[in-house]
Amino acid sequence: MSKRDYYEVLGVSKNATKDEIKKAYRKLSKQYHPDVNKAPDAAEKFKEIKEAYEVLSDDQKRAHYDQFGHTDPNQGFGGFSGADFDFGGFGGFEDIFSSFFGGTRRRDPNAPRAGADLQYTMTLTFEEAAFGKETDIEIPREETCDTCHGSGAKPGTKKETCSHCRGTGQISIEQATPFGRIVNRRTCHHCGGTGQFIKEKCTTCGGSGRVKKRKKIHVKIPAGIDDGQQLRVAGQGEAGINGGPPGDLYIVFRVEPHEFFERDGDDIYCEIPLTFAQAALGDEIEVPTLHGKVKLKIPAGTQTGTKFRLKGKGVPNVRGYGQGDQHIIVRVVTPTKLTEKQKQLLREFDRLSDQSAQHGTHGSFFDKMKKAFKGE
Ligand SMILES: [Zn+2]
Ligand SMILES: [Zn+2]
Repeated sequence: MSKRDYYEVLGVSKNATKDEIKKAYRKLSKQYHPDVNKAPDAAEKFKEIKEAYEVLSDDQKRAHYDQFGHTDPNQGFGGFSGADFDFGGFGGFEDIFSSFFGGTRRRDPNAPRAGADLQYTMTLTFEEAAFGKETDIEIPREETCDTCHGSGAKPGTKKETCSHCRGTGQISIEQATPFGRIVNRRTCHHCGGTGQFIKEKCTTCGGSGRVKKRKKIHVKIPAGIDDGQQLRVAGQGEAGINGGPPGDLYIVFRVEPHEFFERDGDDIYCEIPLTFAQAALGDEIEVPTLHGKVKLKIPAGTQTGTKFRLKGKGVPNVRGYGQGDQHIIVRVVTPTKLTEKQKQLLREFDRLSDQSAQHGTHGSFFDKMKKAFKGE
């Protein structure tokens, strides 16, 4: 069975441009891909199209084909005529098309790339987080080398084209197999795929074009920042590569706990101890807030666990939406060390409480319990 001419398979002329070949292949592969076309000869056709494209899209192979046709005098196996030329089987439908858009192509090592983002963890005191602060931080990062401006070549010298890959960054290795000739492409290890070669390296950066530096950055931390939140400082990450933009710096905040304040969003909570007498008789006390001491009136007969709210005494909202409140929870503390005199007075107090209970002035749960235990 004689093989069809590759140009004929793709329906292009002998002097078709690379673009015309690509277009023709694209159109035909869409039409005959076995995922799409269920005709019995579609797979065979598709294989034929693929094979034709693989040869005609490669300058070297095309020149070779133009000269020798399907017979390769250099190979004992019939050149490209192997039936299993396509070792990868049919690529998925997407594989074919991604290859047109660079999806499966190697990454161009000379293309501009954005620098890496950096993360910096900053610990703040409770107050610093609430009120914000301005500070300088030092971050170690990679920057473009000032001496060679990122080229990696000694000033006054130039990068040279890599002689091993002739500037393409890739080396083709041809292998003969019983099924035909395979061409493998590898990244040129002499130039790392850049196609360029530095003859005289910049002594400052050793040819990398980048240097590690400790960079001082002034940052403004907004009032109201909270534990775990982060601040993005645009453009302060690592330098870009091949002229790409720099990355960003992310400052992640850790806020130290406070001795007696607890924070929930923009609100602050704190517990204040009261003596039994203060709770029973009422009092005016001073309570601490982030904004200084504030007087708080405790009404007579305040129970333990009662909450008071100090409006606007919390943390400013980090986005500028007003200010939180401070919540005070009072705890009535039972005395543990009593003098004989205090004990006497408490017994006297208790006796008087009992009497008032018997007079029926208190109908509380405790009074009812007392009665139940006394068997009344
Ligand atoms: Zn340098
Ligand atoms: Zn090279």
